[in-house]
Amino acid sequence: MQFQSTRNPQHRVGLSDAIARGLAPDGGLYVPTELPDIDRKAFDSAHTIPAVAEVLLRPFAAGDAIAAQVPAIVRDAFNFPAPVVEVAGAAGPLSVLELFHGPTAAFKDFGARFLAASLERIPRSDPRRLTMLVATSGDTGGAVAAAFYQRPWVDVVVLYPKGLVSARQEKQLACWGKNVRTLAVAGTFDDCQRMVKEAFVDPALGRDLLLSSANSINVGRLLPQMAYYAQSSLELFRRDGRAPNYIVPSGNLGNVAACLWARKVGLPIGEVMLATNANLTVPDYLRTGEWQPRPSLATLASAMDVGNPSNMERLRWLFPDLHHLRGAFSAYSVSDDEIRASIRRDYTEYGQTWCPHTATAAHLYRQLPAERRKERWVLVGTAHPAKFNDVVEPLIGAAVPVPSALADLLSLPSLQQDVAPRLDDLRNVLKGNPA
Ligand SMILES: *Cc1c(COP(=O)(O)O)cnc(C)c1O
Repeated sequence: MQFQSTRNPQHRVGLSDAIARGLAPDGGLYVPTELPDIDRKAFDSAHTIPAVAEVLLRPFAAGDAIAAQVPAIVRDAFNFPAPVVEVAGAAGPLSVLELFHGPTAAFKDFGARFLAASLERIPRSDPRRLTMLVATSGDTGGAVAAAFYQRPWVDVVVLYPKGLVSARQEKQLACWGKNVRTLAVAGTFDDCQRMVKEAFVDPALGRDLLLSSANSINVGRLLPQMAYYAQSSLELFRRDGRAPNYIVPSGNLGNVAACLWARKVGLPIGEVMLATNANLTVPDYLRTGEWQPRPSLATLASAMDVGNPSNMERLRWLFPDLHHLRGAFSAYSVSDDEIRASIRRDYTEYGQTWCPHTATAAHLYRQLPAERRKERWVLVGTAHPAKFNDVVEPLIGAAVPVPSALADLLSLPSLQQDVAPRLDDLRNVLKGNPA
């Protein structure tokens, strides 16, 4: 299979190149030239996430240098569970897909670990060390740092918006050192993302460094995220005989893009509903038909504070006109007050503790008409609530137990460096790289 740029269908590369480059040279995002149709029967003997991923990703890697390595890559990357847990006490059949059992307790571990396992195996003609640039709204940076830490062929530079991530996220971003550098940017996530994009098209940096991106703009993060939608939807479909609906807490739209791709290749996924926080760019677009990116607003669901979601380009590629886009998914905004109410109420009524992001999905579920709640819905649990203890604990009046992998990271010293939201500052840091 070939991948093309969203901005130029003539620019085509194989999977290895698409992953190694991250962003296309014209600034577009890589998408498959055409999504395959996968016969559901092909998954009949596949039950675990690695087994499902192997079948799912085979056509995407077909003909590429790493095709034969996909089974090893998915086993290496997906070495932790993603259970679909029944929510007892809900008004209808409801599950939560828990994507937070990896090393940094958010779904970003799936993409980051797959990317690291792939890059390790992709043959490179350029002998220089790779420099991964990562803009993060909180969770990606930690996941990428964890996945690439101490791998001898790569340096990682993480950019996060200073003061706009939770205290525990910040610890997790800044605790690494060695081949990982963490920059606290005096700006928003959009500034961080812009700096990374500018670095990519900067001729001087392009000459000096072998840059790559680990953001959800990298197709090597999107493809693996399809795996948990595939595995969970197959599990529920085999049991219920009906395709489950998903509610996906969304920011930069990588996770929901993976869900829509999974449905498109033939997995039993019903309706897809996207939950945003007070950042209204996507719901407004579906409503008005006008794409109006805007500065991001800070909310309790901070990993979703994105005003100009990059992956919209991939959704438009899949559904080129507004009519199809509106038919493919819906999107609703959830306020901070609704997030708080959702965390409080579901703790009391379901005995479930949500992180503020997962709470946006839980809120939308409550808004569904009773008739619609007869169908099975899956809330996508994007992070462990212990990462957001400062928000969650006062609301539920109880301590959230910390997973042991997270507790280990929280005990390390913080090593971040302050920078202004300018390419010049990033350039200076990168020049100091031992590349
Ligand atoms: C990244 C993230 C999101 C948003 O996912 P996108 O792929 O950017 O839409 C939601 N919740 C959590 C906890 C996250 O880390």
